[in-house]
Amino acid sequence: VSKSDPTPSGTSEDDSTVDVRLSGGTVITMNHDGQVIDDGYVEVVDNRIVHIGAKPSAKRAVEHLDLTGKLVIPGLINTHCHLSQQLARGLADDVDLLTWLRARIWPYETALTPAEVELSALACALEQIRNGVTTIADPGGQHVDAAGRALQTAGIRGYLARSTLDELNGAPPYMVLDTQSALEVQDELASRWHGAAEGRIRFAYSVRTIFNASDELIEGGSERARRLGTILEMHVAEIPAENEHVIATRGRTTVRHLAELGVLGPGFLAAHAVWIDAAEMELLGSSGAAVSHNLASNLRVLGLPRVADMFDAGITVGLGTDGAPVNNRMSLVDEMYSASLLQKGLRLDPTVLPASQVFRMATIDGAKAVAWDDEIGSLEVGKKADLVIVDPLTANMVPLLNPTSALVTSMKTENIESVMCDGRWLMRNRTVTAFDEMETLREAQTWAVGLARRIGLHG
Ligand SMILES: [Zn+2]
Repeated sequence: VSKSDPTPSGTSEDDSTVDVRLSGGTVITMNHDGQVIDDGYVEVVDNRIVHIGAKPSAKRAVEHLDLTGKLVIPGLINTHCHLSQQLARGLADDVDLLTWLRARIWPYETALTPAEVELSALACALEQIRNGVTTIADPGGQHVDAAGRALQTAGIRGYLARSTLDELNGAPPYMVLDTQSALEVQDELASRWHGAAEGRIRFAYSVRTIFNASDELIEGGSERARRLGTILEMHVAEIPAENEHVIATRGRTTVRHLAELGVLGPGFLAAHAVWIDAAEMELLGSSGAAVSHNLASNLRVLGLPRVADMFDAGITVGLGTDGAPVNNRMSLVDEMYSASLLQKGLRLDPTVLPASQVFRMATIDGAKAVAWDDEIGSLEVGKKADLVIVDPLTANMVPLLNPTSALVTSMKTENIESVMCDGRWLMRNRTVTAFDEMETLREAQTWAVGLARRIGLHG
């Protein structure tokens, strides 16, 4: 599978035109200097940003948008997003973790057909687009090809993965493979999906949790991810019982054990990491590993993540929504707001985790967390044209005095006006253009009820 050509080419036949010119908006670049350009210009050729500045280039624009009064921001990055769980929204509210997992999620995931996964993933991608997300990292389900087809249809960017387990320990037997097969099935998927859709889709190796994984599976996934130049996703330190399990079976806590195995490092993406101590934060931070912070899901079933402490330990932290049955609102916009609040309360210090830092988590730091920051996460010449137009002229966002802060503290989903991914508009003026939104929603409603009935969780 070939990756897209790094040199801009495509719809503009000659170099005297650009495909899209955005003008008049406040451009929040999230580049290294945190540059904000009032009345700025962003120009796109094919799938790349070719010009950013206070003045336009001399070229003619095929499409020109006047964005006076609006904001232009990088496409948001959702570093933990279960595509196959979207049809389970509301299926597991107000239950404890073991009921959540064993009585709701395992039966749901076991029952899923490939067609249901494809619809689930498309409905999930729809909610991502509406929330300004252009890149997701899926920790994986069982029908990866179906999820991949949906990502292709939706037009967003992302990592596909296959959730792998090689130890039973309470999991549905059909999900559990022997170690070699669990690695080979991922190799096979990687060969087909890594670099697919003109490079928009990548494949991540994935381990569900250490409860259901041998050391060989973890090490094998890590080796293969490094060889391929991709990431390894793993749910890490979710509950105290996980650390107790690893102490009993390996003699140390999860993160200490992962360090011992040598798998921590750039490209290792730990989802949650709620139950880690200061020494474990040091291990993650000094190794270059990243954490995906999923606050709503953490508060629902896991615990209070000490993200401000993670920053102090030098850990790269991105934001994630997790899945619809554990969060219900799959909105990175909501996630930014709540993430900004919890750490202030935990430390009783309102200066902790300022909005600018939270917005970095949703953009450039999220891109670093998924090892894609060479192409996405900020608006810079040469990067992919993944961008979002925000309309702040709404009751919740006026007055707009500090734009970057407002993106975290007052922006809501409704403020997301248009979304471009890889140079292609997926939503224009709040109308999803990439596929049929209402048909997707009606089908998702009908199919989800049928699926819940099939597993005995709906009357
Ligand atoms: Zn998860």
